[in-house]
This record gives sequence, C-alpha cells and structure tokens, in this order.
Amino acid sequence: MSLMGQMMQMPLLISSLLTHAARHNGDTEIVSKRVEGDIHRTTWGEVELRSRKLAQALARLGCEPGDRVGTLAWNGYRHLEIYYGVSGSGLVCHTINPRLFPQQVAWIINDAQDKVIFVDLNIFPLVEKLVPNLPCVKHVVLMCGRDDMPRDHSLPHLHCYEELVEAENGQYDWPTFDENTAASICYTSGTTGNPKGAVYSHRSSVLHAFASALPDAMCIKATDVILPVVPMFHVNAWGIPYSTALVGCKLVMPGHHLDGASLYELFESEKVTMSAGVPTIWLGLLNHVKANGLKFSTFKTTVIGGSACPPSMIRTFENDYGVEVVHAWGMTELSPIGTLGRLKSKHSHLPAEEKQKILEKQGKSVFGIDMRIVDGEGNPQPWNGVATGDLEVRGHWVISNYFNIDKSPLHDGWFPTGDVATIDADGYMQITDRSKDVIKSGGEWISSIELENVLMAHPAVHEAAAIAAHHPKWDERPMMVVVKKPGAEVTREELLAFYKGKIPTWQTPDDVVFVDELPHTATGKLYKLKLREMFKDHKLPTA
Ligand code: ADP
Repeated sequence: MSLMGQMMQMPLLISSLLTHAARHNGDTEIVSKRVEGDIHRTTWGEVELRSRKLAQALARLGCEPGDRVGTLAWNGYRHLEIYYGVSGSGLVCHTINPRLFPQQVAWIINDAQDKVIFVDLNIFPLVEKLVPNLPCVKHVVLMCGRDDMPRDHSLPHLHCYEELVEAENGQYDWPTFDENTAASICYTSGTTGNPKGAVYSHRSSVLHAFASALPDAMCIKATDVILPVVPMFHVNAWGIPYSTALVGCKLVMPGHHLDGASLYELFESEKVTMSAGVPTIWLGLLNHVKANGLKFSTFKTTVIGGSACPPSMIRTFENDYGVEVVHAWGMTELSPIGTLGRLKSKHSHLPAEEKQKILEKQGKSVFGIDMRIVDGEGNPQPWNGVATGDLEVRGHWVISNYFNIDKSPLHDGWFPTGDVATIDADGYMQITDRSKDVIKSGGEWISSIELENVLMAHPAVHEAAAIAAHHPKWDERPMMVVVKKPGAEVTREELLAFYKGKIPTWQTPDDVVFVDELPHTATGKLYKLKLREMFKDHKLPTA
C-alpha cells in the first residue's frame, strides 16, 4: 500500500505572496512614477494593508467570489494593490490593454463580464465613452485622490479610489480557498480574429512566480531593484508583481512614462538593477543613451522577450553598457514564461563568441514547462538544431482552455503555440517564425526573424521587418521594410549587399523599401498582418 506524505496541505494562494512580502520585507519600497506626474513612495507592508482595505471596499460594492474586476491602468502601486486586493479576496483580476482599439476593449470587457472597472486618470475618457454601452459594468473606480476627480462626467456609478480605500478599516483576513480558483484573466491581442481569454489560477500563478524567480530564469533576488517596463496589462507584467513579492525586492513602476529619457532618469534615480520588456521599448532607451553619451550606473540585467531580440541589441547592451541581456520566450497562454537564454556549466569554457551564439536563441525551458516540435502530421521532430517544427508545450502554467470557448485548443495533450522552432541537442529552442509569418519561397521556408536580425545589425537601421511579397515564379519572396536611424543615409543596394556571407544567397531578400515608421501591435510587436496588407500589391523588381 502506498504511503501518503505527511506534510501540511496549504493551498498556493496569491494573497500568501503579499502577506509574506509584508511580514518579511515590509519596509522594502515600491516607487511609482504616477500619471499625476510625481514620484510616489510606499512599501510592501503598506501595499498589503491597502490591498486588504480594497478587498473590503470591493465587497461593499457588492462583489462576490468569481466576479471579474477589470483594470485599464499603467504600472503603479494602485494597480499592484488591485492585483492583490482583487485576486486575494477570490475575485478575478482582468487586466485590459488600453492601447487596443476601443471596440476591442469593449468586446473584451463584455466577454469577461467585468462588474467593476478600475481606470487610470488619463484612460478615463475611453472608459467614459464605452461604459454606457456595457451593461455588465456596475461600477467604475477612478485611480486617483479626491482632488483629481472630474466634476463633469456622465457615469452614474463613478467612485474615487482613495475614498474607497480610506473608508475601510483593514480588519480583513485573506480568505482561504481552492488553489485552482481563477485569479486573473489576460486576453491575447487578437491580431487575427477576436482576442481570447486565458484564465490563470492561484496555483498556476504562484508556481510561475517560483519558477520565474529562479537563478536560471529571471534570477530575481531581494537585493534587486526591479523596474518592469512590460506593462501590467501585458501577461501580468510577465509575473513580476508576483515574483517581486515572493523575493521581497524593491519595485519601481514607470507609469505610462516609457520614453527613453523618462526611463533613463528613473533607472538612475532609483538605482534600478534589473528590468524586463519587449525589444521595441529598448530601441528607444538605447537611442536616448547613445545620443546623449550616457552610461548606466546600477542597471545590470534585462530580460527581453515578447518578440525576437535582435542579436545586435544583445551586443550593444553588453559591450557598450555592461548590461546582460536574458532572451526569453513566452506567451499569454503560458503566463507567460516558457524558455530563457541561460548557459549550462559545460559552456563556461567556450570563447565569448560561441557563448553569445547560444544566448541569442530563445533558450531552454524552465522546470514546469515541457516542449516539443512536431511536423504537419503531428510527429515529433528531432532535437538537432536543424529540424524545424510547430512548437508545442505543456506544463503547470499552460492553459488547457480559453475562456468562454468550448473547443479545446490542445493537440494530443499539448498546447500548439503557433510558433515554428528548432530545438538543439542541449534543449535550446530557437524560434524561426510565427507560423503565419513564415516566408515560403518555392516550397522552402525562409525565417523572417533571421532576415530582420541581419539588418538590425546595420548601423543605419533603426528597425526592420521582413514580409512575404508575391512572386510569379516562387510564390513568395522576402522583402524588407526598413526605418532608418535619424539622420542616417543608406541605400537599398547597400542593405541588400549587407546580407552577403551572412545567410544563404537564395534567402537574400528581393527588395528593400524605406518607410518613416513601422506599424506595431498594442503590445509593441511588429504588426506583420498590417504590413502584408500595406504591401500586398508591391511589385518586386525580380518579378
Ligand atoms: P499576443 O501578441 O498574441 O498577445 P503574446 O504576447 O502572448 O501574444 O505573444 C506570444 C508570441 O510572441 C509567441 O507565440 C511568439 O510568436 C512571440 N514571441 C514571444 N517571445 C519571443 C521571442 N523571444 N522570440 C520570438 N518570438 C517571441
């Protein structure tokens, strides 16, 4: 007969991350650059108390376990209190990306049936317009003090955040419930079709927090000062609001001030050691420091993911600024962390250039995530770094179902990511493309990411996108759409010549066109669908 373990059964609850932070690191700071423009300082201890008060306030507004509470807000301490006050009390925190089209925001609120919406001051005009047509929304809470409340507005149930919190006494015990209860919902950005909701549980979120903080993952320590550039509405800021509570480190919240100059100022004034965000945001910061001859005094590591980080960006950070880049891959359906570029001990004696090559890949999986690549028939492909296949994953924080959609997204018990990848013998995964972005030239596949990475290393290129253009003979051929660096001069021919010796000749793009700006999605990724539309009638010189 099997012997059962004889250890305590304590459900993994999000509230426990915060109570731990408050009890053991209660005086550690949370610093926020507010929408109001000033710098605000609080602590984990204070955030825990105010989260309890917020939970009381939500109950007073009539919220019951399982009710969805939406947020349209930037990174800041109030948003952090909402994360914990909502999930901790058994409600479901639904973060919404304010950069989506208004009709998409409305669609998502309605799909999630949000009962309360919390909103930052500068996003209020959007909410004021949408809410009258959203019967599910019973209350709107403006995230500000009494003095900033608008005098003229048309909403019947508008509340002031600070008034709600101040009215409560904080005598509230975090409830205990099943760890599989829903804690939060994030929607995919839905570049094709409607957005889909991923519902995270308390268990999956806490396990994700444990794993993401590990040394071979994001390596978050109590001595770090972390500034998440990635917004709290983009897959819960990659779990940073949870993992920082778990380790009890200082957190710096940039609000909506994400331009290079504002970020640099905050990195320096708050002695930030670590950050995380998508590649596009770092282009802005790097341009700013370069143009002004600046250096970072405390910034040591940044996690870059969400789309492929160009190797040239990794080099610039490391060689010019002494900042280590950890390349990470993940997605909304994975809470989001899947793999990270970290070395193994057997790599320690390799020359720098070879180490760099390994670190350019999207990396190896963290414990809790298993992966495989399969061909069109679903047959697993070898891990040899050459064979490509559709990337599939499974694990403790991978979705099994989308919210409100009956049909399971799983294939044979695995979640198909929609990415095409290779995996090498050491388990390092490399994304070649999203399957819908692959360029198919005469039956052969060309990786758009590889073509982009080459041009991103050219000194005159600010940003480059590779898309498929129609070709009468090859069906599709690659073309590059390029934004030059301010003041830089470069020709189409020079950029095409730049590919020589870097990729097989047949993969060299057929054309380069220059634009002033590339379209991005609401999460800051290249908007390939839009680009393909823009260039659908483009005539290649080779056609
Ligand atoms: P969406 O943009 O659809 O909301 P996510 O933010 O969840 O979704 O994006 C997930 C996708 O982003 C992945 O499937 C992958 O295509 C892409 N992605 C994320 N990280 C990387 C990376 N490091 N390299 C290449 N692609 C990445």
